[in-house]
Amino acid sequence: MSQTRVEGTIRKALSGFYYVQTEQTLVTCRARGKFRYQKVTPLVGDRVAIALQPDGSGSLVEILPRRNAFQRPAVANLDQLVIIASGAVPVSDPFLLDRIISLAERKGCEPILCINKWDLVPAQQLLETYRAAGIPALPVSAVTGLGIDQLRGLLAGKISAFTGNSGVGKSSLLNALDPAFGLATGEISEKLGRGRHTTRHVELFPLAGGLIADTPGFSAFDQEKGEDPVEQEALARSFREFRPYLGQCRFVGCAHVKEQGCAVLAARDAGKIVPSRHESYVRLYELARENKPWGKN
Ligand code: GDP
Ligand code: ZN
Repeated sequence: MSQTRVEGTIRKALSGFYYVQTEQTLVTCRARGKFRYQKVTPLVGDRVAIALQPDGSGSLVEILPRRNAFQRPAVANLDQLVIIASGAVPVSDPFLLDRIISLAERKGCEPILCINKWDLVPAQQLLETYRAAGIPALPVSAVTGLGIDQLRGLLAGKISAFTGNSGVGKSSLLNALDPAFGLATGEISEKLGRGRHTTRHVELFPLAGGLIADTPGFSAFDQEKGEDPVEQEALARSFREFRPYLGQCRFVGCAHVKEQGCAVLAARDAGKIVPSRHESYVRLYELARENKPWGKN
């Protein structure tokens, strides 16, 4: 029997089956044994080659190289992480925003900050902080529609995931982007609807011309346990506005915490780096040094 090799993206993994989106259709696939030998678990988001059977089913034959992979939630090839913040209840903690931005940067995933509930609180200072850092940041409101077209434009053609505290408006924004998404919003529905899921499977949904990871049970992406410890240099580079100054400090191996002749500290004092961003860096630096699992603090 003839088999055709086609490529696609895993949109969903459940009970040993993988649902692969090809250009034409969504194909139900079973992984072949060789992935077990290779100790490679196919992830949602993986680009894969499949052998298409005459009956329309398929089997995974190859995982194509990944751009990145996250463990919690388990998803690969995220182009961008859409971080939802809010100046209204629940008020976002800049440190937690910086922590998730740093994780995205270290994974080669573009962080995009959306400051939601702008109709309630226009958190102008938060917006300025991230724009000054060179991070795409936009004011949005799921209620008035502010910034929704702009956000939709950023999602087209990309694989994205939304992250942010519970109650910040992730579901409301997804619905505003595409009413067909039809997610339950608000406290009760959130707790009852999603809290009961015991499996934390991720699924990619077509939305706004891209794919969006729905991540039930995850309010934030976590630093993985058992992952390589964060290298100090990678941590400093994950604050993108530090980059022009790295390598200009007086001492090689400068930690940029309180060293004499530190170019990063000088930039902060000159108003080129926002102090709260540097404070977050120092906190993450201390955490990495103590090798604490992130997110448990
Ligand atoms: P999630 O937990 O992040 O998915 O948050 P939800 O989408 O469930 O929203 C939590 C609550 O905030 C709901 O009561 C929403 O109606 C409300 N909400 C979400 N976005 C906005 C917004 O832009 N403006 C206002 N005023 N309320 C919002
Ligand atoms: Zn330095």
